[in-house]
Amino acid sequence: MLIKSEQRCIEPRCAARYGLDEPLLVCRSCGDLLEIRTEIACSSAQLRELWQRRRASNDARDRSGVWRFRETLPFDERASPVTLFEGNTPLYDAPRAARHCGLDRLWLKHQGGNPTGSFKDTGMTVAVTQAVRLGAQTVICASTGNTAASLAAYAARADLRCAILVPRGQISHAKLVQSLDYGAAVLEIEGDFDRCMRLIRELANEPSVYVVNSINPFRLEGQKTTAFELLEQLDWEAPDHVVVPGGNLGNGSALGKGFFEMFELGLIEKLPRISIAQAEGAAPLVHFLSAWPPPPTLTPVAHPATLATAIKIGAPVSWKKAARVVQQTGGRAVAVSETEIAEAKAVIGRDGIGCEPASATAVAGIKKLVAQGFISPGERVVAVLTGHLLKDADYAMRYHTGALFDAGRYRNAPQRVEACAATILDLLAN
Ligand SMILES: *Cc1c(COP(=O)(O)O)cnc(C)c1O
Repeated sequence: MLIKSEQRCIEPRCAARYGLDEPLLVCRSCGDLLEIRTEIACSSAQLRELWQRRRASNDARDRSGVWRFRETLPFDERASPVTLFEGNTPLYDAPRAARHCGLDRLWLKHQGGNPTGSFKDTGMTVAVTQAVRLGAQTVICASTGNTAASLAAYAARADLRCAILVPRGQISHAKLVQSLDYGAAVLEIEGDFDRCMRLIRELANEPSVYVVNSINPFRLEGQKTTAFELLEQLDWEAPDHVVVPGGNLGNGSALGKGFFEMFELGLIEKLPRISIAQAEGAAPLVHFLSAWPPPPTLTPVAHPATLATAIKIGAPVSWKKAARVVQQTGGRAVAVSETEIAEAKAVIGRDGIGCEPASATAVAGIKKLVAQGFISPGERVVAVLTGHLLKDADYAMRYHTGALFDAGRYRNAPQRVEACAATILDLLAN
């Protein structure tokens, strides 16, 4: 199959277009973000049938939950992807979390089920495949931990050199150790994530390195496929609301792109409202969308603060794309407190589903949007859980032992007991 794809500047007044082989980070003519447009030559019925059929196939590309949707990706049929069989993540019914939010029903799309434990894998498989196509030697990114872990793994699969910039002392050990294990050069920078990101923009001018932060539009092409997978799991009946945590704002942008594409192809009859949840101490998108009159540009948060380190970002690179997704789908941006995040995380746990604090922001956001009357109890709502519980076990331990807050409602500390069966039975009877 022949595909027609290009990179395009998202600013309508510029609309510059570039070939897929140009290793650009941003538009060369105006500096704005780029996105990829791909002409899809199949009908909606053909796509549904084809994607369904591939679920029973053992072809490596079909076993990936990203490459199974390759008609929508900017590679031709001969491309051999760098894959760890990402995607294919579960969609869970979560009755306790639903009650917590005031909903009849809530679905959790758990991206923590990806090979390295976060949604970053769905984008990284595409970005690293593109790095190989471009003949890159070294791939590089700035990260709050999960992008790094993911890149390190895919770079190892592709036998590429990999360097990651992380803010020293600000990322969880579990994430850091993944990058070390996968053989990446881990470069700890004095400063926060935004400082690392500025360095990346400088390094991007070097032809020897290929940047795979979510400013890279190929990343978002992979991440958009989560929307397809989710719709497939809902038998192509779009939910009323999809809520996702927002840090650098690539993921909300990517999901939005995925839903728009399915809508344009006629695979769904309506778009879900896409809302983005941020931590109060790192909520530049919430400030931007609630300011009146609408400001010309987003004002970064100078000192972002939240224990949900994956979204501790003050100057999100994809804010413009994400703001459009929220506005064009009629969603909202919502800020939640640290306590609300922690309680949401613990209640998700009570449904038997483990996620990291940043992910729980989505559920905390839903609770707030229900309270505000923006989401009604009977509507069909999906929260995207972005990462796995074990990504930040320290946080969960501190919550359950009361080190995080004095009184967590779902606090569950270990109890020391005598090694005696009768005592244990006594204890359990109470
Ligand atoms: C990266 C990440 C986010 C934030 O996603 P953005 O695309 O940066 O908005 C949220 N949660 C987890 C677990 C992540 O790893």
